Amino acid sequence: MSTDGFAAELAGWLEDNWDPTITLRMWWNRLAASGWSQAHWPEQWFGKGLSDAEGVEVANLIARFGAVPAPTGFGTAMAGPTLLVHGTDEQRARHLPGIVDGTDAFCQLFSEPNAGSDLAGLQCRAERDGDEWVANGQKVWTSEGQIANKAMLVARTDPTVPKHPGLSYFFIDVRQPGVEIRPLREMTGRSYFNEVFITDARIPGNDLVGGEGSGWAVANTTLAFERALSGGGRPATIALPGEIAGDLDKLAGQFVLQPSGAGGDEREARSARLIALARQLGRSDDPVLRDRLMRLHTLEFLRALTTERGQHHRRAGTELPGLANLAKMAINHEYRMVRDLIWEILGADGMLHGYSPEQLAVIDAVSPVDDHAALLEEALFAQGPPIYGGSDQIQRNIAGERVLGLPREPNVEKGVPFKDLPKN
Ligand SMILES: Cc1cc2nc3c(=O)[nH]c(=O)nc-3n(C[C@H](O)[C@H](O)[C@H](O)COP(=O)(O)OP(=O)(O)OC[C@H]3O[C@@H](n4cnc5c(N)ncnc54)[C@H](O)[C@@H]3O)c2cc1C
Repeated sequence: MSTDGFAAELAGWLEDNWDPTITLRMWWNRLAASGWSQAHWPEQWFGKGLSDAEGVEVANLIARFGAVPAPTGFGTAMAGPTLLVHGTDEQRARHLPGIVDGTDAFCQLFSEPNAGSDLAGLQCRAERDGDEWVANGQKVWTSEGQIANKAMLVARTDPTVPKHPGLSYFFIDVRQPGVEIRPLREMTGRSYFNEVFITDARIPGNDLVGGEGSGWAVANTTLAFERALSGGGRPATIALPGEIAGDLDKLAGQFVLQPSGAGGDEREARSARLIALARQLGRSDDPVLRDRLMRLHTLEFLRALTTERGQHHRRAGTELPGLANLAKMAINHEYRMVRDLIWEILGADGMLHGYSPEQLAVIDAVSPVDDHAALLEEALFAQGPPIYGGSDQIQRNIAGERVLGLPREPNVEKGVPFKDLPKN
């Protein structure tokens, strides 16, 4: 299908089907049934067989039309695509419907207190018990765990072999008695991520994804989808999936994304917004600030072109080694520049902060800036993206080794059974 072809078909479908007065559940169900929710997935599996780049275009067309985009987050961006690569047809048939229509919400149980960058060193165990697996361990930094009913779990199934082949990958029900999800309060004031304690949690045998001992390969597929998401270009949905978040039975119309108001090209949205803020606060004549805003604008534009370049390669079925790593580092740099500029432009008012919704409402009320609290949250959260999905240092390591051909890091653990490795 040509771009014009699917754009026209989608526009017609939206004219006939978008209705802000139905519930989000009904809207996402319509989108799922039509194949437009994840149009880049195969036709057999709830999609339309379009390319990844075309899938991004579909999501943007839906947002531009003024309708609510398909569910975003761990389910559609990571769990579903991972099942399409490594799952069985039985697993796809069982899990994909709830992912596509947003009735299931997923989280990612990978990191542990002693295993982040060194993910393969994780200690959470899963042991066979008849037809089931029994999991025990602790996970941490689990984003959106508080609204999830299912998770992607990486656990150690064989400690007698070296660390990578001893791992397996599961889908697990996180609303069972053996799973305790405790929110962690961030410096933004929100509780976006959690620590998760797993005690004798049960996993049906048919929720092992990719086979026993293949967890490292499957987890890397998920992480590659996570990196692609970071440089993505897909509009975020403010509506949350899953029954726990409570959005599904609200009216779809209340989740329509409002245009930023900054106008112009979406690729320059952040700099445009900050330029508008500098103008509002009478700072736009400051030559140093103007210079820094121009740098952000330039970087933003270059990063968007890099994303488009990646999409072009994916469309053509080719690959540019390291591009995803470089794109992730570029967007992280952008986050830091935005953070510094927000505080620079707000000046002393940037020191105002609150941790509860009531405190944040007071700040918005006394500040001359309408979205003061949201700006502060954005500035404070900017520390996160350079860490998750593989920190900047890890991205540099990968690019150094795989793109520049630099010597690999020494690996003294190679071939040593996990149980014999020194641990914290
Ligand atoms: C906002 C946020 C959301 C997250 N969400 C999730 C989630 O949903 N699920 C999940 O499983 N995890 C999640 N994480 C965890 C994230 O994946 C880890 O924080 C990340 O992998 C880094 O691990 P760590 O925190 O243990 O730091 P460490 O691995 O201990 O790293 C500490 C420092 O050492 C550096 N370092 C480590 N190893 C090397 C090396 N070999 N070479 C050079 N430098 C190195 C790192 O870059 C870092 O600066 C989230 C993190 C954040 C910040």
